[in-house]
Amino acid sequence: MIIGKIKKNEKKIEFELHITCVSCKRKVPGGMKTSEKYYGTDLFCEEIKKFRENYLCGRCRDEKRILKNRMKP
Ligand SMILES: [Zn+2]
Repeated sequence: MIIGKIKKNEKKIEFELHITCVSCKRKVPGGMKTSEKYYGTDLFCEEIKKFRENYLCGRCRDEKRILKNRMKP
């Protein structure tokens, strides 16, 4: 997963983020990427925070989608 934007010729930083699904509380290890310039900035921290607050694991995302489809007339 990519945080922020990485320009073509920019150096990338890869890091592991331990994320917890907001729905089932399952821990998911996430391999993340960001640009070297962006890493550690306030904006970066803000984005990570938002990402964590909204993160759904694959299973919960699927369930949400199924539910949505069921609600269609
Ligand atoms: Zn989940």
